[in-house]
Amino acid sequence: MDRRLALKKQIIEVGIQLLRNGLVAGTGGNISARLPDMEYFYITPSGMAYESLQPDDIVGIDYNGDLVEGTRKPSIECMMHASILRARPDVGAVVHTHSLYATAVASAHLPIPAFLETVIATNKSEIKVAEYAPAGSQELAENALRTLGEDSAVLLANHGVVGVGRDLAQAVRVCETVEKAAMVFLMSRIVGGPIPIPTELIARQVEFFKTRYGQKQ
Ligand SMILES: [Zn+2]
Repeated sequence: MDRRLALKKQIIEVGIQLLRNGLVAGTGGNISARLPDMEYFYITPSGMAYESLQPDDIVGIDYNGDLVEGTRKPSIECMMHASILRARPDVGAVVHTHSLYATAVASAHLPIPAFLETVIATNKSEIKVAEYAPAGSQELAENALRTLGEDSAVLLANHGVVGVGRDLAQAVRVCETVEKAAMVFLMSRIVGGPIPIPTELIARQVEFFKTRYGQKQ
């Protein structure tokens, strides 16, 4: 199968997976991805149900936010995706959700501290909160990119989460990790609040994930 068509299908599958796992509701959230040799990226269309999407509904957008493939109106957050993908050559996919616990923490403008190994594996340190700006605005795109920096996850104040990865599977995993960490963070606050992992042990853990975890590529 054509690689671009396969990528569009994968974007739709990810949308359905997010919906089934409760990370998005209705037509909420948005997903983008690109292949290494593409000069633009694919993104979900605005306000369409994931389960009814067809590959032709996925649109191609350049880094100025202009439509270059397809006919649908792109997700209103296409500038946020464009900014991140333009600034981060290491990123192949961006997933934005409104998952419940992460949005609760983001609405309190609280970063999720590095209190779980999964948080360290995702971001090396805490998961920061990007300053509030209205959905779909250029300011939101700028705030999200600035706060994300070189991390894999960022919370959007009063809004949701953005997870990035080398591919779609990794970006989804980041969003799932943030949601679970946010849930544990909130529960832990009921019993006195999470105790951060000591800084020197964080460095050791980061090194461990880098050199020892998983299979050789
Ligand atoms: Zn949103």
